[in-house]
Parts: sequence; C-alpha cells; structure tokens
Amino acid sequence: MKTIKHPVQYDVVVAGGGVGGITAAVAAARSGARTLLVEEDLVLGGALTDYFVAMLCGQPTRGILLEILNRCISRHALQHGVNWFLPSGWLHAIAAICGRETNLEIMTGARLTGVRGDGGHIDAIEVDCESIRREITAKMFIEATGTGWFAELAGCEIMYGRDARSDFGERHAPAQRDNQVQQVTWMYISQKLPGFPPFDMTRLENVRLGVLPQEDYWFHADPAKAVAANDGIYLHWGCRTECADTRDSVAVGRAQQTALQLMERDHALLRENGYTVTLAPKIGLREVRRVKGLHVLSSEEVMNNQFPDDTVAVGKYELDIWGEEVRCHAPWNGYGIPYRSLVPLRVDNLLLAGRIISGSHIAMSSYRVMPIVGNIGQAAGVAAALAVKHRCSPAALAPRSVRDALTAPPQNQILEP
Ligand SMILES: Cc1cc2nc3c(=O)[nH]c(=O)nc-3n(C[C@H](O)[C@H](O)[C@H](O)COP(=O)(O)OP(=O)(O)OC[C@H]3O[C@@H](n4cnc5c(N)ncnc54)[C@H](O)[C@@H]3O)c2cc1C
Repeated sequence: MKTIKHPVQYDVVVAGGGVGGITAAVAAARSGARTLLVEEDLVLGGALTDYFVAMLCGQPTRGILLEILNRCISRHALQHGVNWFLPSGWLHAIAAICGRETNLEIMTGARLTGVRGDGGHIDAIEVDCESIRREITAKMFIEATGTGWFAELAGCEIMYGRDARSDFGERHAPAQRDNQVQQVTWMYISQKLPGFPPFDMTRLENVRLGVLPQEDYWFHADPAKAVAANDGIYLHWGCRTECADTRDSVAVGRAQQTALQLMERDHALLRENGYTVTLAPKIGLREVRRVKGLHVLSSEEVMNNQFPDDTVAVGKYELDIWGEEVRCHAPWNGYGIPYRSLVPLRVDNLLLAGRIISGSHIAMSSYRVMPIVGNIGQAAGVAAALAVKHRCSPAALAPRSVRDALTAPPQNQILEP
C-alpha cells in the first residue's frame, strides 16, 4: 500500500467520531488547538448512526452534546415532545456543530490501523483510506474509537470482560475474572406504510427490550397510550444475544447472524402488518476493551455517589449491565468521573474519551451512556489542548487547571451534580 505523509502537523488528533470523539474534537478546537477528527466510517456519529442508538439516556446532557441535542430538537424532531431522532437528524446536527469550529478538520473514511512511536510516546498514526495509507503526526492524541484498539496498538494496558471482586473491591463482581462482556443488540426502526392500521407491538417477542414511539414512554409499559399516539414510527432495541469476543470481527459477524434469526418472527409480523423494517448498519456492541489509566473507576465509587477532587465529568445513570443482574441500591445523586481515569498508563501523549476510559466492567455499564460519554469527551478535548499549550504530558497537568478551563468560557461546562 502506498504511504503518504499528511502535510499538516496537528496539535490534537482524535481517533473515532462517536459522541466521545466529537465532543473531544470540538472541545479541543474551541480551546484553540488545531484538531483533526479521524473516523473510519464515511459519516460521524458512532453509535448514533452505526447502531441506531438514537436516544440519549442517563444524565446530565450538558455542554457540547446539549448543543447537538438542541439542534436536533429545533430542526429534526419528527413531532413535538420527542425523545429520539432519526440518525439522519443526528448527523445534520453534528455536522452543524462541528462546522462552526474553524480549528477543526474532519477526515472520514479513514481507518486507524497503525501507530508509530517508541512505545511510551506516539509520533504518528497510520490511517488507511482505501488504497492509500496516510501518516499523520500530532502533539497529542485522543483515543475515542469505542473499542480501545488505538490504545492497544499504542502499548497501553487493556482490560476486557468481567473483573474479579478483589481487583477493585467491588461487591457485585464475580470471584474470578472472565471474558464475559455485555450482550449485543441489533437495533432497528419500523415505520407504518399508509393504509394500514396501527399494529400492537406487544405481539412482538422482543417488545420488553424496548420499543419507543416518538414519545417518552415504552410501548410495553403502556400499550394503549402507544397505539393511541399512532406515531407510525418506532425505535426498537431489536434483540439481545451474546458475542463470544467483541474484539474479533468474525465473532461479531456470527453474533449478527444469530440476532437476525432471533428477530425473524418479529420482522415478519411487522411486514405482514404493513410496517417497513430498517436495520441499523451494524449490530450494537455495548462493551469492547477498557483502557487502564492512573485510576480505575469502580462501581463502589459510582454507587457511593463519589465526587473526587479531580472530577472532570458528571454522570447519573444506574448500573445497567445487559446479560447480568446487578442493581444499584445507593441514593442516586450522580458521581464524578476523575481526570485520572482519562489518563492512560504507559503512553505519555494520549488521552482517553468515551466508553473506553479507565473503569471497571460494572462501572462502565453506567458511564457508557451518551450524555456521560459526551461529558467525558469534552473533558478529554480540553485537557489535550491544555497539555499542548503547556507542552506537558496529560499526567503532568494539574487536574485543577483542567476543571478551571472546562468551567470557563468558551467551554462553560458544569461540574456540579
Ligand atoms: C445496543 C445499544 C443500545 C444503547 N442504548 C443507549 C441508549 O438508549 N442511550 C444512551 O445514551 N446510550 C446507549 N447506549 C450506549 C452508547 O450508545 C455508547 O456507549 C456510546 O455511544 C459510546 O460512544 P463512544 O464515542 O465511546 O463510541 P462509539 O459511538 O462507538 O464511537 C466510536 C467511533 O470510532 C470509530 N472507530 C472505531 N475504530 C476506528 C478506527 N480504527 N479508526 C477510525 N475510527 C474508528 C467508529 O466507527 C465509531 O464511529 C447503547 C449502546 C448499545 C450498543
């Protein structure tokens, strides 16, 4: 493959254009860093557009993600009072918010495949764009691929699957580590064709996993209300299944085949009753790698509503592990994500953003939702820009300075619960 050196050296390169990467890239650009966002798909959005995870859950939606959400509400709502949006709506809103940033360049259709450096420091990344390999240099990098693959290539320490109880002192963890990750789900959107009566979605096998009309309630929780709303368009958490190894694309392909079979009856019912079924481009992976950082956020900290001094993002969401019964029984006031969980061990010019940050398997089941991922991304972007400005590594930055920059203009982020 032909390799060309990209002509520009960036301050910050963000790999991965999901909610974590978009918020990180916009935040870094707004902080004055010349920033490049690299995404393997032809469009940005990550889970929003790849998996049709078209609804935010958990809290708080703040900062840059709130700007994107407000743009969706004002321009792309299918009807008043909606709580989810078509992936195309998200895409337009993301393009509008990213498009305002003069310091931000976006490269889509560019898959990160290699890292050049000495093990402890990244000099350049390699991205494959069809038959051309581009080598891109930067002072600081942000891992936001949702898979942790970039961090693994760069030499970081990786965590995968369930941790042992003794690893991080978690009462709900199993006695031994294993490779079990959360179940995968293939989401889809169904839409009623003209001339057909509304269909009672409770006839679907998988309705309890989640079917949402364009209103704020679940179909199975109040079917009469759902049928009366007669939206004609529904978001489905298709079905759930295991994936033997979410790091292995062949295993993911197998899980996708299984999911298609599991949804066959539901899709046939929908078709017979005059509904189109549009499957998401990819089956949704809730969990791949997690990257070990200066601190591993545990479920005990999440459940105890801890706000450490170096809190740089706020999260409020239950522990929500698909495939396991783990309940949060603590008072639910939210928790702080420590800056130390965004700083990986072993590599001195890399920051972590999105669901791959340094946390336990159980803790991750809470902070993986998009509002929290958005808050984490914004913090990572601000920290990367600060590290470039002060010519230091992320580990050498005072967390106080990250918090100050995050809460001051132009970021105006809120770090209170
Ligand atoms: C089925 C399912 C349902 C969910 N339901 C909800 C919900 O209702 N509400 C909610 O808030 N959250 C929900 N979540 C969780 C949430 O959607 C994700 O955890 C979150 O969006 C992750 O964001 P991210 O930016 O870390 O990763 P992603 O959104 O996965 O983004 C990563 C991006 O990196 C790109 N990438 C990967 N590898 C490379 C590479 N080598 N080179 C270049 N680019 C690369 C990918 O293409 C992708 O665009 C759900 C998740 C799943 C799977």
